[in-house]
Parts: sequence; structure tokens; C-alpha cells
Amino acid sequence: MDLSFTREHIAFRDEVRAWIQQAMPPAIRAKAAVGASFDMDEVMQWHRILYEKGWVAPHWPKEYGGTGWDATRRFLFREELEMSGAPNLSPFGLSMVGPLLIQFGSDAQKARFLPKILSGEEVWCQGYSEPNAGSDLASLQCRADDDGAGHFVVNGQKTWTTYAQYADWIFCLVRTDSSGKKQEGISFLLIDMKSPGVEVRPMLTIAGTPAFCETFFDNVVVPKENLVGPLHGGWTLAKALLGHERTLIAAVGDSRRMIRKVKRIAARTMAGGRRLLDDPGYRARIARLEVKLRGLQMANYRALAGAQLGRAPGPESSILKIRGSEILQEAYVLAMEVMGHNSLSWFNEPGVVSDEEQPVAPGFNYARATTIYGGTNEIQRNVIAKLILGLPTR
Ligand SMILES: Cc1cc2nc3c(=O)[nH]c(=O)nc-3n(C[C@H](O)[C@H](O)[C@H](O)COP(=O)(O)OP(=O)(O)OC[C@H]3O[C@@H](n4cnc5c(N)ncnc54)[C@H](O)[C@@H]3O)c2cc1C
Repeated sequence: MDLSFTREHIAFRDEVRAWIQQAMPPAIRAKAAVGASFDMDEVMQWHRILYEKGWVAPHWPKEYGGTGWDATRRFLFREELEMSGAPNLSPFGLSMVGPLLIQFGSDAQKARFLPKILSGEEVWCQGYSEPNAGSDLASLQCRADDDGAGHFVVNGQKTWTTYAQYADWIFCLVRTDSSGKKQEGISFLLIDMKSPGVEVRPMLTIAGTPAFCETFFDNVVVPKENLVGPLHGGWTLAKALLGHERTLIAAVGDSRRMIRKVKRIAARTMAGGRRLLDDPGYRARIARLEVKLRGLQMANYRALAGAQLGRAPGPESSILKIRGSEILQEAYVLAMEVMGHNSLSWFNEPGVVSDEEQPVAPGFNYARATTIYGGTNEIQRNVIAKLILGLPTR
């Protein structure tokens, strides 16, 4: 296995790096430089810039608007984007339902939905979780009944629906049969958020953002052509989509950026008569985290080398998810500590704290979620125990 990059790959990385800096509008660049968070308008502005360049969906096949890059280029591109601090694009269209439609959708569904996902004209959200169906997703109860006239009628509730308040469409897992094994009565449905009977209630997070919502369906009429894959066959699609979701979570670039920021601030923070960065205890903590991050990066490269050989990501993506989420949380802890009381500010306070120290607390709080979403880390450990270590389930 060769983990080094070719000269072409390095030239590609440099080209991407330069383009990102030049293409970012000044307001976004200013926020990106200090690691501030972005609102939905800024996210969509950046989406459109990447779309114009043809780089919005590098992982899609070229015929549907992808770039045709190999796995290494795709990885380098993603790492550069994360490192730059640019807005993270919403994953629901580009990285979840888009690839799923490419794999399982009808020609009509592909023609109808894919171009608008690419251009950003239509925003998507994910309707999987319910109040009693999170880790045990197959217990979901939101129902879709056949009205015998070419429609499903949907009733029930979804929860944790990130971006539902902005979304034009939701992809939903719905129960279409309750008679047999619970996994065998689930279907995958695309629902127009403007349909009568859809109600969205945003929930304020501890990070201070209305990131997600509860979504209710009251006799919502959905045309049958919005069913993706076979009736009652949605579980296979649900799992395929979760595979796409999990590979996104290693967040190596995000952690690298945060550690760099910590080092920059520690280099100008005085503690006990010397720079905090020169304090052996503090240095050791940064070094330990960097070593962990380097290990994660190498594991990511190994997965990448496998992908270059055509291997699909296996249960090892659970390792990337666990390590990536924990490292990001640790990096935020270091950032909070190095900023001291300045880290407690929740809003931009120009002149009160330095640009670099602008609110990190919301990001720190939001990073708590990385060990939960995309399948909790406990569930990932179960996957590793069963599928990698071959341990018995009881
Ligand atoms: C920020 C954020 C955004 C999200 N966005 C979306 C979204 O857009 N759409 C969507 O559908 N969902 C979304 N989710 C939901 C997310 O997928 C669920 O929160 C997650 O699957 C866990 O489910 P739960 O919250 O019901 O917890 P539960 O499943 O009730 O778990 C509670 C605790 O018990 C543990 N546990 C449960 N079962 C086991 C087991 N068998 N073995 C060991 N431990 C176990 C869990 O690990 C966890 O610690 C989001 C969540 C967050 C935090």
C-alpha cells in the first residue's frame, strides 16, 4: 500500500488551495480566517460558487455533474476545504439523497431532482429519526398508506431534522407495512415540504442556533412516483445512505484548523511569565492531540488507498467516525482553555476579544453532537466489536 501523494496530486492540492482563497467572497473569507460560523445564506452563496466552478459534487459520476476526480483528489479537495474554514455545504442533497438517487432512483427521478441539488436551487433535509427511533431506527412509526388513487398519505413525526426550516424537500423513511419483520415494512419517500399538512417546528440548540427541527406530517398526500426503490424495500436504501453519511465525519481538516488556531493563540498568550506555547504541560497536550490526529489522517489515507483499488468503505469507517469526533471535541477543549474567559463570548464582540477569539463557545457546544449524529459512538463501537473483532453480540 502506497500512502504517499504523486507530484500531480500535490500540484492539484496547490491549485485547489489557491482557487479557494481567490474564490471566497471577502465577507466569507474574513469569517473563515477566524473560524467563525456561517448562516444559511452564506452556505448557499458558497454552494453556488462551487457549482459555477463545477466542483460542488466531486464524488458524483461525471455524467451527472461530478468532476471525474480519483479518490485521492476528492480527499485532498475535501481536506483543503475544511482547512480553509469555508462554509460546510449542507450534506443532505449533495452527499446523501443525490448519490442515493444516482444508485437507486428512476430516470425520471434523476432528471427531476439531481440538477436542482447540484445548483442549490432546492435544499434538502433528512427525515430518519423519530422520538422512539434513533439508534433503533427500524422501530420508526411514521406511516405512509396507499390511498388507492396513486398517492401515499403520510402521518407521523420526525425529529432532529436539521435544516428542515430551510428545506424544499425531505427524504423520509416511512412505514408502509407493519405485519412482518420491522426492517421489511419500510419505504423511502421524497416529500415536498410545501405540501399541505407538513409542519416544521425549529428547536434552539445549546449552541444558540436553530439547527434542527421537529417535523410533523398530518395527512400529507405524496404522489407514488416519489417512492425511491421498491415498496417496503427502503431499509437497503436507508443503510446505503448512512454509509455515505459516516464517511463524512472524520473531519481531519476541521481538527487541523482548530489545532493551528490554538497554537497561534497560545503563542501570544502569556502564562507564568512565559508563552503558554512554551509551557511543557500545555505543549505536551497539544502534541498528544496532534499525534492522534496524524494517526487518524493515516487511517483515512489507508481507507483512501483502498478506495483507489475499488474497495467500498467497510466497518473501518466506524473507527474514523469515533476517532474523528473525539479529536474534534478535544481540539475545542484546548481552544476554550487557551482563550480563558474570552472563550465564553457567544456573539461577535469586536474590540472586546481578538478576531481570532471570536465566539468559539457555540462551536464547542455544537461539537458535542459529533459523537451522536451519524450513529452514536456507542453504536459504532458495537459495529467494530461485531464486524471487525468478531465478538459475540451478547
Ligand atoms: C446535531 C444533530 C443533528 C441531527 N440531524 C439529523 C437529521 O437531520 N435527520 C435525522 O433523521 N436525524 C438527525 N439526528 C439524529 C441522530 O441520528 C440521532 O440522535 C442518533 O441516531 C441517536 O439516536 P437518539 O438520539 O434517539 O438516541 P438513542 O438511540 O435513544 O440513544 C441514547 C443513548 O443510548 C445509547 N445506545 C442506544 N442503543 C444502544 C446499543 N444498542 N448499545 C449501546 N448503546 C446504545 C446511544 O449510543 C446513546 O448514547 C441528528 C442528531 C444530532 C445530535
